[in-house]
Amino acid sequence: MQPRPWDVGNDSEILVALGRVSIADLSQYMREKGVKSDCASCGRNDWAIVPPAVGILTIPSSTPQALAGPTVSPSNFGAPAVCLECNHCGFMRMYNALQIGLWKLDSERKAGNGK
Ligand SMILES: [Zn+2]
Repeated sequence: MQPRPWDVGNDSEILVALGRVSIADLSQYMREKGVKSDCASCGRNDWAIVPPAVGILTIPSSTPQALAGPTVSPSNFGAPAVCLECNHCGFMRMYNALQIGLWKLDSERKAGNGK
C-alpha cells in the first residue's frame, strides 16, 4: 500500500488548504468523486455539515496496527473528519478531511492559483 501524502509529513499544507474549502467546493468534491447524494438510510437528499466543520475522529487503541499506519502513536489513531448528517433521518456519514484538503490543493495547483 502506498503511503498517503499526509503519512509522509505533508499534512500541514493539506490542512491549510482544507481551511479554504467552501460549501460549494465540498459539493464539487462529492460530484467529482462520484459520491451518491441520496441518504443510505432514508433515500432523501437533504444534508447538513455537523459542526465543527472539521472534527477529530479518534479510534480507540483496539484498532489493528495495520490500519493505523507507521506515523501514529500505538495508543490511538486520530484523523480529521468532515461529518454530514441527513436532515430527515439523522443518518451521519464521515469523510477524511485530509482527502478533501488534498483535493483542494490539487485543484488550486491545476488552476494555477494555489500555493
Ligand atoms: Zn436520511
